[in-house]
Amino acid sequence: MKVLVINAGSSSLKYQFINMDDLSVIAKGLCERIGINDSRLKHTPIGKDTVIIEKDMKDHTDAIGMVIAALTDAEHGVISDMKEISAVGHRVVHGGELFSESVIIDENVKKSIEACIELAPLHNAPNLTGILACEKVIPHAKQVAVFDTAFHQTMPPEAYLYAVPYSYYKEHKIRRYGFHGTSHKYVSQRAAELLGKPLSELKLITLHLGNGSSLAAVKYGKSIDTSMGFTPLAGLIMGTRSGDIDPAICSYIAEKEGIDAKEVTNILNKKSGVLGVSGISSDFRDLEAQADNNARAKLALDMFAYSIKKCIGQYIAAMNGVDALVFTAGVGENNKELRKQMAEELSFFGISIDDEKNAKRGIDIDVSAPDAKVKTLVIPTNEELMIALDTKRLTEN
Ligand code: AMP
Repeated sequence: MKVLVINAGSSSLKYQFINMDDLSVIAKGLCERIGINDSRLKHTPIGKDTVIIEKDMKDHTDAIGMVIAALTDAEHGVISDMKEISAVGHRVVHGGELFSESVIIDENVKKSIEACIELAPLHNAPNLTGILACEKVIPHAKQVAVFDTAFHQTMPPEAYLYAVPYSYYKEHKIRRYGFHGTSHKYVSQRAAELLGKPLSELKLITLHLGNGSSLAAVKYGKSIDTSMGFTPLAGLIMGTRSGDIDPAICSYIAEKEGIDAKEVTNILNKKSGVLGVSGISSDFRDLEAQADNNARAKLALDMFAYSIKKCIGQYIAAMNGVDALVFTAGVGENNKELRKQMAEELSFFGISIDDEKNAKRGIDIDVSAPDAKVKTLVIPTNEELMIALDTKRLTEN
């Protein structure tokens, strides 16, 4: 069985084509500038050179058509007939309270995804467009929606409600949803395998640290709290996002700067975080390179680390203990100094790291010191694989 995984954005579409027999990626690629001039497809058949195909893509249907053409091409294709695509798995950002699991897409599911557009307009609208395009171009294949929010639907009300008038929850769906759920779920499952214990017996803190970052408290296999909130702006300090701030700052800035609420939110999303503090970059590598000579680059990194450390503390409290910290995503997987710093500054809890193991990269690994009471794991995330696995599970029969 072969599954096509689609992540559709407003003007882009990423894909991976996965052989479910051995879970290997057969091809992957990216359509860029959909609906804009100079659109192009970057297609990589694994083991062969990347090809770039420049051709107008006026919409997502055109883009999917190009993906199928690339996958079945005589030269750089990987299948001879598109019928070999058994099913399609879609990343959908927001499932609201309607989805706590991945689902096979039917008319009702499409309506529900549409109903969630108001909660994540920049993401859910293109996600739905990608689904409709696949229906047109690959009509024989069943489609599955995998939601970023679904894994966190197990949070209890005391974790997901905000202390605002209760009617806002009922009428406007204001609550913590959490994001990166597919990643938190994937690394939790892998962590249990690595630790050789059932997930249902483990208390884990999963740390998805990338350009966007979130932590999750995963108790006995269920997310019971997570740092992102109603939107992915909440929680930790991120590349360009502020994370949690005093909400009163918003109207205060609006007044002082003569801007409206929308513009304030835009600044908190795009011009804040380590970029806003450092004034240099949202990329953590740039900041590390300059930290010794630039006080604000160092300050931004210190603030980022401190926000993570505090959140770990909260989740140890929320679960009354922790068996393992699980680091993933760009920064979590690659930044060994940050992992070391967390271990040293949280040594009270019995977290301790082996430097030699901590220096390894690109593999699932337990980097704990032999005497560590709380394990530290590094597990490269693989959201596409998780989407493909759910797609296989739901469509196989
Ligand atoms: P992601 O959003 O998961 O793709 O992560 C992107 C972030 O990971 C960027 O800010 C990168 O600077 C950071 N990153 C990638 N590689 C490294 C590395 N070797 N050391 C530190 N940060 C890294």
